[in-house]
Amino acid sequence: MVRTRYAPSPTGYMHIGNLRTALYEYLIAKRYGGIFILRIEDTDRNREVYGAVEKIRQTLRTAGLAYDEGPDAGGEFGPYVQSERVEIYMRHAQELVDKGKAYYCFCDKKRLESLDDGLGNSKYDRRCLNLSKEEVKRNLDDGIPWVIRQLIPEGDTAFVDQVYGEITISNSELDDQILIKSDGMPTYNFANVVDDHLMLITHVVRGNEYLSSTPKYNLLYDAFGWQIPTYIHLPLILNEKGEKLSKRRGDASFEDLLEAGFLPEAIVNCIALLGWSPSDNQEIFSLEELSRSFDLKGLSKSPSTFDVTKLTWMNGEYFRRMDPEKFYELSLGSLKESVKLKSVDLKKVAELVQPRINFIHEIPALVDFIDALPEYDASLYTHKKMKTNSQNSLESLKKALQALESLDCWDEQSLHARIFKLIEELGIKNGQMLWPIRTALSGKPSSPCGATELCALLGRDLSLKRLRLGIEKLISCSD
Ligand code: GLU
Repeated sequence: MVRTRYAPSPTGYMHIGNLRTALYEYLIAKRYGGIFILRIEDTDRNREVYGAVEKIRQTLRTAGLAYDEGPDAGGEFGPYVQSERVEIYMRHAQELVDKGKAYYCFCDKKRLESLDDGLGNSKYDRRCLNLSKEEVKRNLDDGIPWVIRQLIPEGDTAFVDQVYGEITISNSELDDQILIKSDGMPTYNFANVVDDHLMLITHVVRGNEYLSSTPKYNLLYDAFGWQIPTYIHLPLILNEKGEKLSKRRGDASFEDLLEAGFLPEAIVNCIALLGWSPSDNQEIFSLEELSRSFDLKGLSKSPSTFDVTKLTWMNGEYFRRMDPEKFYELSLGSLKESVKLKSVDLKKVAELVQPRINFIHEIPALVDFIDALPEYDASLYTHKKMKTNSQNSLESLKKALQALESLDCWDEQSLHARIFKLIEELGIKNGQMLWPIRTALSGKPSSPCGATELCALLGRDLSLKRLRLGIEKLISCSD
């Protein structure tokens, strides 16, 4: 059975790259009917940030990436947490020592510093490798600080990565890395391998910065006699300036994007396409569709660009495709803030703005004319394409006012029928009637709907009042 894990360190910031890793792990599990787990890699206590674990869980919840198992945490399962499993790593390190695949090292900081070649390379010289069992025991009994190091064998290590292909390196390039630190905690490099094995992980997805450490992991798998998982290392994600995404450079985290008004579904959709392409040109995918379509073949090793302009378009697409009831619920707060007139049907306003926005916060500017007619200039009536000027607009508004004052039924259908009949009677172009009405009712060069819909939306009294105001404005400017 396919089993994947998302294994973040709780450093407080869930950037786009982290979320992409989590998403791909989730999708691989779902695609093959497998299990997706969350494992918190918190053995580096210096890097831990308070509240970070909750932030990770909250992010996964919001993104819809529910994990499938974990230790019981009082009714609900929690994530696996490495700091709660320290004893397991120590036991496994000891097993490697017993097998001669790892060894205790008692060298102090000063000695290790002296091994530095001045260029930051400080490969351990294995001074402690040949200590006898008795010497090791004596040192341990004397309380001399120790670490456990991996014994890197001679030869080459080759492996296949699903994205980068076959990679071979000479073991002579590898250091006898520390497995257990002097505080008794495992290093990330060690705990990661032990846990991936014990948690039966079949596919490991992570950033390509781990590609160079992978041979060391494989040597650990070999030392234990364990099966190596399938590796999927992902290329970098760049910002629009071609730089590596980073919080320091001000690139947005998942949380920042939510705060800026992006929908979680749109963010997830956009992130799915950072490094993976479907076999056709489909761009909009629900999480469920992704779970069906995602495949390793579509992964690419070229860096991808996180394009906020594209995400903005996608956000709009998600609003446009949203069930109108859901959109109404989402926009209601903003609509209520912007439109206080009781006579206006907010559901209708929601319907009008739904196809026109990329963000909920764009709503107020689209509908502000409903409550208060903005101050506008009479020149707005002059529109070259509509063939309108202040004179023919004045004529149109007068005729429209007359016709609408006597209209019995003020609904959109009747309004539409009456206005178009009038256009026909007058023998003028549609725009010569519709543009002046739209302008008088909205006071803006653009509005979320046309003239007759506006009349219906604003109601009889307000519409007639604004038509009269328009007439007055045009008369006063012609004086
Ligand atoms: N704890 C590592 C990180 O946060 C995870 C790397 C991995 O997935 O193996 O980058």
